Amino acid sequence: MLLAVIVPCYNEEEVIELTFNEINKVIENLIKKGWIKKESFIVFVDDGSRDKTWEIISNLHAKYPERVKGLKLSRNCGHQNALMAGMMSFDYDACVTIDADLQDPPEVIENMVEKYREGFEIVYGVRSKRDSDTLFKRKTAEAFYKFMKFLGVELVSNHADFRLLGRRAVKALSEFKESNLFLRGIIPYLGFKSTKVFYERRKRAGGESKYTLGKMLSFAWEGITSFSIFPLRIITVIGALIFIVSLLLSLWALYLKMSGKSVAGWASIVLPLYILGGLNILFLGIIGEYIGKTYIESKKRPRYIVEERLD
Ligand code: UDP
Ligand code: MG
Repeated sequence: MLLAVIVPCYNEEEVIELTFNEINKVIENLIKKGWIKKESFIVFVDDGSRDKTWEIISNLHAKYPERVKGLKLSRNCGHQNALMAGMMSFDYDACVTIDADLQDPPEVIENMVEKYREGFEIVYGVRSKRDSDTLFKRKTAEAFYKFMKFLGVELVSNHADFRLLGRRAVKALSEFKESNLFLRGIIPYLGFKSTKVFYERRKRAGGESKYTLGKMLSFAWEGITSFSIFPLRIITVIGALIFIVSLLLSLWALYLKMSGKSVAGWASIVLPLYILGGLNILFLGIIGEYIGKTYIESKKRPRYIVEERLD
């Protein structure tokens, strides 16, 4: 079978060559075993890097034109879109997506291919431990998985974007046209026969994390809003509860008035004002978020723009 290894790169000049060597070793080994065709290749997707990333990819392509292919996106489209660009732009029997920083050990690709040969269409790389992450990242990730589960979104815990997809799964994935793309949610949703392989995530081989806190938060929010309208439902429920309470309060106020016991109260006027005002704005905001998503989806813009291709 023809294997493609897809590597999204955003300002990864420090690690690309090292990563190429490591992945190439694994590919050579698999070719020797007769598991994959010798035309199997690596695709480096440059996600609008501002450093020498593309230069290094071009050099690698010049040196190993058969083995290395490159795709340059016209700007930083984000990790998920870079993965999509890589997966959709080439032809192969199965692909493995892997980070450029060697945090996902390339040796595991061999286990994935083995599972593919056993007939699995999707193989998830799952981390057995998260020691190499900061406590903050571990805790926030945990909270995120819990919350998504609570929302009813099926995710594979501790699986990031290190996975093997067969041709049929990629074809199915290509039918999903949404621009709010959350691969970790969509891929389990595809169905197909799937399994997991376990590995320990290592430290970055060089450079710094390209996922800033802002990017992480926006990724989590994409995940939630692209799969669930639960936040909107909460609004309805809270709104209904508040309505009941205010009905009771009105009855109470009416009773006080009629029994002549009413006292001019400041707190009772001002507190509901604050609370309702706050809730109003918050809930309008959440509704607005979803309207915004609808707006963005309705434009059907391309998820990524390819500027150059080395093939
Ligand atoms: N990445 C990308 N575009 C981005 C951010 C990240 O293509 O906008 C790539 C990055 O080069 C790496 C992978 O996505 O190959 C994972 O990023 P990183 O290692 O920085 O994330 P972390 O492991 O810290 O979560
Ligand atoms: Mg990383």
